[in-house]
Amino acid sequence: MVKIKQMDSALANQIAAGEVVERPASVVKELVENAIDAQATIVTIELLEAGIQSIKVIDNGIGMEPEDLKTAILPHATSKIYTVHDLFRIQSLGFRGEALASIGSVSKLTLESTPEDATEGYQIKVEDSAIVEESIAKPRQGTTITVDDLFYNTPARLKHLKTLQTELKHTTTFVQNIALAYPNIRFTLIHNNQRIFNSTGNNDLQQTIANVYSASIARQLIPIAGESMDFQISGYISPPQLTRTNKQYMHWMINQRPIRSVMLDKVLLKAYGRQLMIGRYPLTVINIDIDPYLVDVNVHPTKQTVRLSKEEELSQLLTETVEKQLARINPVPEVSIEDIDTPKVQPKAPTTMPFEFSYQKPVTREQPSIDKHALEEALNDGNKNTLNVSYNDDKVSQSEVTESTDTYTYQSDQFDEEEKIDFLSLRYVGQIHGTYLIAESEDGFFLIDQHAAQERIRYEALLNEEINVTAQQQLLIPLILEFTASEMVAIESIQPQLQRVGIVMTQFSPTSYQLDQYPNWIKADDIEKVVRELVELMIEEPDLSLTDYLEAGIIMHSCRGAIKANHYLDKQQAEALIHDMADLEDPYHCPHGRPVFVEFGEKSIEKMFKRIQDTHQTTFYN
Ligand code: ADP
Ligand code: MG
Repeated sequence: MVKIKQMDSALANQIAAGEVVERPASVVKELVENAIDAQATIVTIELLEAGIQSIKVIDNGIGMEPEDLKTAILPHATSKIYTVHDLFRIQSLGFRGEALASIGSVSKLTLESTPEDATEGYQIKVEDSAIVEESIAKPRQGTTITVDDLFYNTPARLKHLKTLQTELKHTTTFVQNIALAYPNIRFTLIHNNQRIFNSTGNNDLQQTIANVYSASIARQLIPIAGESMDFQISGYISPPQLTRTNKQYMHWMINQRPIRSVMLDKVLLKAYGRQLMIGRYPLTVINIDIDPYLVDVNVHPTKQTVRLSKEEELSQLLTETVEKQLARINPVPEVSIEDIDTPKVQPKAPTTMPFEFSYQKPVTREQPSIDKHALEEALNDGNKNTLNVSYNDDKVSQSEVTESTDTYTYQSDQFDEEEKIDFLSLRYVGQIHGTYLIAESEDGFFLIDQHAAQERIRYEALLNEEINVTAQQQLLIPLILEFTASEMVAIESIQPQLQRVGIVMTQFSPTSYQLDQYPNWIKADDIEKVVRELVELMIEEPDLSLTDYLEAGIIMHSCRGAIKANHYLDKQQAEALIHDMADLEDPYHCPHGRPVFVEFGEKSIEKMFKRIQDTHQTTFYN
């Protein structure tokens, strides 16, 4: 008996839809890309219920003849590539001829189109991959595609969707990204009859960045441009002071196709180098133009991953282009080890470093954390609003250091495990580069990172303060915070988290929130920055506990208020800072986990100057 049969096309299309049509945002992506390929200059996207109820994409592109309209919904029907050769030089965003067929199998699809100079339009309605209705329509240059009741016939897919806000956020993010890639197209995104985003479409990238972010951010950005044999780079990067807490704000486009690339992220971050604080990322919009022969976009159905040839050449060009502009705004000459002249003749040059830094701390302590148990108890107990957040001492573990970095060698033999550094007895020697303090001890000296030290001091002070979770500060003049369209959508969904930490914000305009109340523990002078960063963190990680958010807020605070590098301290200030370190529970790490100081032991210094030989060091010390 024959068992094998070819699937009917409706079923085959539904299966194919699994690859490209995952959620409303993927439908919007396919339809908008089609509009761009059709040379539209105005693209309007209208959603109802985050697109689950209805998605409409209206363009003013070249349109389709009635016959093409009917073919467009068939699988593998495309006007963009005709031969295998075309596949290797793709200029359009689409080429697989799958989108409309897939969408037509999982929704109620309507296509209406008027080609250039036609006196009337045509409309077809599709259900279960078949045309169920067709008619003449009013002429309107371009195409309107409507997708109703997405996934109505695939309940499993429907059940997979996240909350409306999450789905809307995906779509908004896509529309913003594509707007950044096509500054010449005017995009408008309307949700439940409210406009939530639009771009100017005047072919000015900086203007588009202002549309997506804000005029003030756009103004601060630095233009970049570079060219090599095969590549052309252009766009904007943020100065090192203008950063974000995650990589979402690094926008990449290859031949105007928005993509994500770990490789490009890495190269870019490396070009910024130490100008960026750890855990901070720049805001960048960079387009890379390449001959289509050198890029393979046919790696994944969603085409967000691409394969590149000549990656080396590209990284080099990117590095040079970015470094050049950063050096222009921040012309601090940096000397690297390779730049230092080394004597030609090096008698008995040691093969290894002649001394060891000891990043002093033979034992690790866990990062002190807020006593979560006490905090939770207090939160559950309505009467007891105040609580003392302090170190939980039994959490301090005395485990041996296992990790080690390139720069530091942990020397557990040199100091007694229990020994605490007596910061009060250190003699302050001086400051170098407005960044590090030198302090002499009886048996060596310390190089202290003033920013890290003060960060730690502020952090511990804040942690030890009475944190009153419910005490509120009312703003006399409400503070207006501007957000991007996708942040606006996301903020709605993190309202519970915000309220739990005591932040009350109400929508002020389509692009801003008004801060009405904030908790006392956030100091007035960096209220905006801490709220903004907490919002970013909550959007990124909505499932952290209250204590995690509080701790993150405290870390942001301690960092904000701390003295920065390149800041002169007089003798008194420096001594006060070193003395304050004496009270620290953990003077070794800044709240981000980086070292606060490096100690040069007498023994190491003597080794460095060959006053003692390696092999003799034990006898010397005993
Ligand atoms: P692909 O984009 O990969 O070619 P699609 O299924 O998305 O496949 O679209 C099929 C064809 O329908 C396209 O090749 C194009 O000729 C036509 N088409 C789709 N959308 C539009 C539009 N908005 N304007 C003009 N033509 C369109
Ligand atoms: Mg397409």
